[in-house]
Amino acid sequence: MDIFNKLNINIDDIQRCAIHSRHDIKEVHLKPCIDASSFLGPMFVHAGWKVMTSTVKSSVTKVRFRNVPIYVPDEELFHLASFFGKVKDDLVTYERHKGDSLRGLENGTRAIDMELTEGKSFMNYIWLAGPLPVDKLARITIAHDGQKQQCSNCLRTAHEGCPAGAVGKLCREMKTDTMSVENYMRSLNENFKYKSLKDQYLSSLANPDPVDGLDIINSTVKNMTAEIELKEKITHQKAQLKTKENHENEKAKKLELIKKSVMEE
Ligand SMILES: [Zn+2]
Repeated sequence: MDIFNKLNINIDDIQRCAIHSRHDIKEVHLKPCIDASSFLGPMFVHAGWKVMTSTVKSSVTKVRFRNVPIYVPDEELFHLASFFGKVKDDLVTYERHKGDSLRGLENGTRAIDMELTEGKSFMNYIWLAGPLPVDKLARITIAHDGQKQQCSNCLRTAHEGCPAGAVGKLCREMKTDTMSVENYMRSLNENFKYKSLKDQYLSSLANPDPVDGLDIINSTVKNMTAEIELKEKITHQKAQLKTKENHENEKAKKLELIKKSVMEE
């Protein structure tokens, strides 16, 4: 529609468009990653109509996490979500199988409703593990409306430089290097400081907080001092006992001598 051209709105950036019954309001629901403020401007006349633009913010986006292993706690999903917006009602829905023999059982997909921060959208892939050392990293697929497509092979979007326009199959056929999970997770940390809760915990063990570290040293020194003081006390008491023993011995010897001399007399 040429009104969209006039407003510089790309049709691909639109998720829904509703024309109200009075025909004088067009409601355009943009994809979450699109910043609406660039389309706002002063009133203008188009085809005999006065056109005014305004935004309404209310959109709640359902974000689905597919193939989440049971051992991955909901807290890891909330933590990841906090980098992209606000979770509604702190609630995770566990989706269930429909219409097959497993009908009604949880299917490994968890969903949360979110208010995405303007201009932000989730990546398609993340690797998460459970809290135990034996829990392995598993690839979780994230999906929501208006997401930018990410290549399953090089893990980049077209904008980030996937040569196949983020189509994984094509990217593999083009023999583009696959990005390793390690490099990918490192890039998330470099790009927006994301680190899973488990990784945060593990690195806190490897590099203890300097204040905590100092506390540990202080308490160790305290314990050592107490131990030395106790040892000194024991040595002192032992020495006192020894002196007392010597006294007793000498007393006994003297008594013996006195007894002897009395008997000799
Ligand atoms: Zn690619």
